[in-house]
Amino acid sequence: MKATEVIDELKRRFPNEPEYIQAVEEVVSSIEDVYNEHPEFERYNLIERLCIPDRIFSFRVSWVDDSGKVRNNMGYRIQHNNAIGPYKGGIRFHSSVNQSILKFLAFEQTFKNSLTTLAMGGAKGGSDFSPRGKSDMEVMRFCQAFIAELWRQIGPDTDVPAGDIGVGGREVGYMYGYYKKMAREFTGTFTGKGREFGGSLIRPEATGYGNCYFLLNMLATRGIDIKGKRVAISGSGNVATYTAQKLQQLGAVVVSLSDSDGSIYAPDGLTHEQLEFVFELKNVMRGRIREVAEEYPESVQYFPGERPWHIAKCDIAMPSATQNEIDGDDARALLAQGVIAVSEGANMPSTPEAIKEFLAAKILYAPGKAANAGGVAVSGLEMAQNSQKLSWSAEQVDTKLKEIMAQIHKSCEEFGKEPDGFINYVKGANVAGFMKVARAMMAQGIL
Ligand code: NDP
Repeated sequence: MKATEVIDELKRRFPNEPEYIQAVEEVVSSIEDVYNEHPEFERYNLIERLCIPDRIFSFRVSWVDDSGKVRNNMGYRIQHNNAIGPYKGGIRFHSSVNQSILKFLAFEQTFKNSLTTLAMGGAKGGSDFSPRGKSDMEVMRFCQAFIAELWRQIGPDTDVPAGDIGVGGREVGYMYGYYKKMAREFTGTFTGKGREFGGSLIRPEATGYGNCYFLLNMLATRGIDIKGKRVAISGSGNVATYTAQKLQQLGAVVVSLSDSDGSIYAPDGLTHEQLEFVFELKNVMRGRIREVAEEYPESVQYFPGERPWHIAKCDIAMPSATQNEIDGDDARALLAQGVIAVSEGANMPSTPEAIKEFLAAKILYAPGKAANAGGVAVSGLEMAQNSQKLSWSAEQVDTKLKEIMAQIHKSCEEFGKEPDGFINYVKGANVAGFMKVARAMMAQGIL
């Protein structure tokens, strides 16, 4: 089948999965030229096999809340592709989770993992359970019930989950604990674990730090210094907060953060003390971003129900919350105020219309699968440490993270550089990620 025919066919077969179709369309349209240069790919119907996940597990998760009421959620694990390594990808707990969102994430993860240069296939999982407003004991009971269903399908050389939205160190700890009890083995089946039981140093920081390292590589191609640049960030979770921390270390000015209720804007930039307050608020108090403005009313403003893009005056945008959080209007607003770079911490935060705007304006635009790959890269390093029963120093891991981000940048440049010198990071990341998986699939036969 031709690449475009594959998309039409997938639209027909999965009409209720818009996020999945959006992700597939973006990748397939940018690899079409390369695909057409390889007639053997078409003979083996490679694109269709690469777009449809190897398998999907879906199950009911029943648990008891603190008041004794029985609750039921849906659980999923999408094992997308293991041509170049064991299935690998995070688990998302959020009320919006459905099969379409997890299929898009698992598909993207396959190319991202390929780009990291490490041996990892692509997967994703999750539930429509939201930890927000739940007690620790409720979260623990839910995590145990989730793993009671999933544990047979995962393992250190089979499928290695990690965190994502709503799944941080606490949730990974509870899930890994229950996995260990059921499987009766102590292996690195989850990444993002606590330090005391096999977690890697720098894993919590890795996605945010890695995005900053990728941004530095992009800015260097135009000789731009990050010092003093105003950066708008969305989200206030793991990725957003560590992005903000590294940016402050690099001398940039962090002007916004957000959550699903609204955004904060600090016209003069958040101070170190204010960012420390955000870490405490999010990880210990489990509070809302508006509380930062309540704590520092002279220097921080709160905009309920708004995303940062129309509010924050900035040079750079680093969306780090969720999918489709920058639409065409947001993109035009960012460009109108002269934004020079957009580097995505979240997965697929820009809509197709927004991406078109960024590419047409020829700004530095890095899609999530390249810019946020540092998280899974350090997860790969955690797997390597676990299998050797060793733990590396923070400096060792950070150095490797920088090298991997530089290598991903180089791959994007190699496959995405246009005749006028502009680097199309979307095409670069998609083609580089695709070619490695495609070659491995061809070599392994029709499975
Ligand atoms: P967290 O749960 O730690 O934080 C998510 C943040 O985004 C919160 O501030 C949350 O606000 C906000 N958010 C979530 N959903 C929405 C929504 N529908 N609308 C507006 N805001 C929302 O997750 P992470 O920081 O881990 O993940 C953020 C993004 O980064 C996701 O796209 C994830 O897939 C991606 N990513 C994460 C990696 C990791 O290592 N953790 C690796 C690579 C990518 P609220 O608290 O109100 O829900």
